[in-house]
Formats: sequence, C-alpha cells, structure tokens
Amino acid sequence: MADSQASSQPSSKASSQQSEQGLQSKLPEVGTTIFTVMSALAAEEGALNLSQGFPDFDGPPALLERVQYYLTHGYNQYPPMMGIAALREAIAVKVRNLYGADPDPDTDITITSGGTEALFCAIAAVVQPDDEVIVFDPAYDSYAPVVTLQGGITRHVAMSPPAYRVDWDRVADLITPRTRLIITNTPHNPTGTVWAQDDIEALRTLVAKYGLYVLADEVYEHIIFDGLEHVSLCRYPDLFERSFVVSSFGKTYHTTGWKIGYCVAPAALTKEFRKIHQFVTFTSNTPVQHGLADFLRDHPEHHLELGGFYQQKRDLFCRLLEGSRFDVAPSAGTYFQLLGYERFSDELDTDLALRLTREAKIASIPVSIFYEDAAAERYRVLRFCFCKDDETLRQGAEILCGL
Ligand code: PMP
Ligand code: GLN
Repeated sequence: MADSQASSQPSSKASSQQSEQGLQSKLPEVGTTIFTVMSALAAEEGALNLSQGFPDFDGPPALLERVQYYLTHGYNQYPPMMGIAALREAIAVKVRNLYGADPDPDTDITITSGGTEALFCAIAAVVQPDDEVIVFDPAYDSYAPVVTLQGGITRHVAMSPPAYRVDWDRVADLITPRTRLIITNTPHNPTGTVWAQDDIEALRTLVAKYGLYVLADEVYEHIIFDGLEHVSLCRYPDLFERSFVVSSFGKTYHTTGWKIGYCVAPAALTKEFRKIHQFVTFTSNTPVQHGLADFLRDHPEHHLELGGFYQQKRDLFCRLLEGSRFDVAPSAGTYFQLLGYERFSDELDTDLALRLTREAKIASIPVSIFYEDAAAERYRVLRFCFCKDDETLRQGAEILCGL
C-alpha cells in the first residue's frame, strides 16, 4: 500500500506522525525510498529503468563460480560475527596496496550486509541524542533518517549545480559544540563528482580543530574516470584515525543484490561499530564472503580496471546524447550521469521523472529529492544510471534524443 501510494508521488517525504494503528512514527517525514518508488513505477509502466542504480549484467563468471562452489560445498552456516578472516585479510591487502593504510583485519575491518548496514552501524556508534551531523546535499537518502533514529540532528550543506562543490566556509559556520560527525561521499551519488585534494585539506583542518568523527561513504571507490585518483580517507593517517570508511562489493562486482559491504575503522571505533553490527544482522552470508575472498585474491585486476570499464559506458552514453536537448557534463565517477533539462522544460524534476516514465517509457531519479532545502526544486536535473549493457544505453539515448 505504501509503495503504491508513494509511486504516484516521487517523494521520500511523508507527513503523518502516526500510522493507521496509532503507532507513533519515529520517522514521520520519511516515505518509501525514491529508488523503490521509481523502479516500481518503471516496472508498472514497462519503462526502461535507468533510475535505481544496478547493472543489467552479471558479476564476473569466475566470482559466480566461486560462490556456487561454496554454496554447494557446505559453507552455509554462520560465519564469524565480524566476517570471515580470509575476506577481511583480502580487504586489508587491497587497502594497503591502494591507499597505504595498514588496517588490522582482526580489529579494524568488519564485513556488513551491504554498505547500507555499515552506514547504519557507524552512525549509531557515534551519534548521541542531540548530537549534530553534517551532510552534503544532494545526500544519499539513508544518512539523515539514521541520524534521526539516534536522536541526532542533521545539518545540511547544499552543493549547487553545475559544479556541486562543498562550500567549506559554510561547513565551518555550521559547526557547534554539538557537532559530532561529518558524512562524506566521494565519488558522489547522485552528482558523479569527486573530491579533490583541497577538499581533503579543508576536512582535515575541521576534524583536527573540532575533534569530529568522519563517516566516509566510498562505495564507488573504484568507479572513477579520466585518470583522477580516489581520495580515500584511508590515505590520511590523521583523518583515518577518526574515520569509518565504508565500501560495497555490490558496486565493484556488479552484484548489488548480494548485499555485502564492509567498514574499515581504527580498533577503538570498530569495537563500538561491532557492538551494533552484532545485533543488527549479527553477520552476513557465508558462501558469498568466501567467494569474494577468493576472487579478490585471484583477480585484483577486476577492481583496478573497473574505472576504465565504466568510463567507456559513460563516454558512449554521453556521446549518444550529443544530439539531444539535455545539458551533459560528463560524470567524474560513479555510474550515474546527471542531465540538465532546462533548455526544453520548466517542469519540476519530480514531475518530469514521473512523466517521462509514463509517457516516454524511461525512468530516472529526480535530484531535488536528495536536498533538505526546498530551493532545490528549482534545479532542472535528472539522474540516469549508465551501468547497463551498451544496447540498453543505446535504447535509452534514443528515447532521450527524441525529447
Ligand atoms: N552509499 C551510496 C552513496 C550508494 O549509492 C549506495 C548504493 N546503494 C550505498 C551507500 C549502499 O550500498 P549497498 O547497496 O552495498 O548497501
Ligand atoms: N544506490 C542505488 C542508487 O543510488 C540504490 C540503492 C537502493 O536502492 N537502496 O540508485
């Protein structure tokens, strides 16, 4: 019921304080997530679904083979609460090779049920009632509700099109004695921007000055283009010592439905993180963890080549859109492309996303949904997902060029 109501109105906001059964809502402002809303509408309307981010192709065959092996060879009972040792060790090797950090797999790395669970546990570990948390809008939709559930208060710093840079003076102005956590996300969903070294320097200054914690959402760490380097917080010992760094195998191995992610954080933070993780899911599924551990060890080239793989798709999609009326500024990372439509429509993005799904049979995500500030309604931008077969991208571009 909630879904069908929500699908007529693409908003993550709801208004009633109480459910029909009189239950006091802990999240009265929250409706059904836009990803579920738009994917359901796309299915209902038979539209090409470039809204919710998931590939329409499978993970690497060798990975599927390894998972199948473990599934059929008795690896089907609880793994350790913090995740299997082989996978934590493989992650430690990767983090060391790529970012120069040296996390201890026993005390600093936890396997989670997707990046989403890691985000939840990290926020729950840090935020006390009335603590303030800074997020950068447009912000991924799971952050603020989890802060609210802890009794915390989210402070939003808006980033504006077309550059979507962080205004660090504004961040500094927002800091109070209650500010506890900053949530960062690079490469950034939904804008496809990536942080540069000067963002890191600004963050460093604030973290040191005010003793803040950082939750670094790095689930798109390997999907970065044009020779840019991912500025993982694992690279900076002073930042890492105050950070939870979250990633997701769903993005890296084209397996979003497996829901396996991880959190790297110093031992003292991991200790609190695990206290929560053990009672949220206890642990995450066994055969997939084993399969991933083997694959990570045997095929490091996969994550090293992922940027190139998706850059080709971005380039194809953007080239095909050259004749369209959209404004296209190619993404620097993630598998999302923002398209500006002010040259041909003055509709709200929430209205246009619905209309295009119903009439043009193509689904996208309205970006204003990820802002707290209602002023974002004036931005004329939709998000399209390009982690699709080239043929799907051609079909999508053909529809978009016809608008
Ligand atoms: N953070 C961001 C920015 C994301 O786009 C996603 C993708 N859903 C997640 C976190 C959660 O990742 P997962 O699907 O592994 O839970
Ligand atoms: N991260 C995906 C996106 O941005 C969707 C995640 C979800 O459906 N919860 O599209």
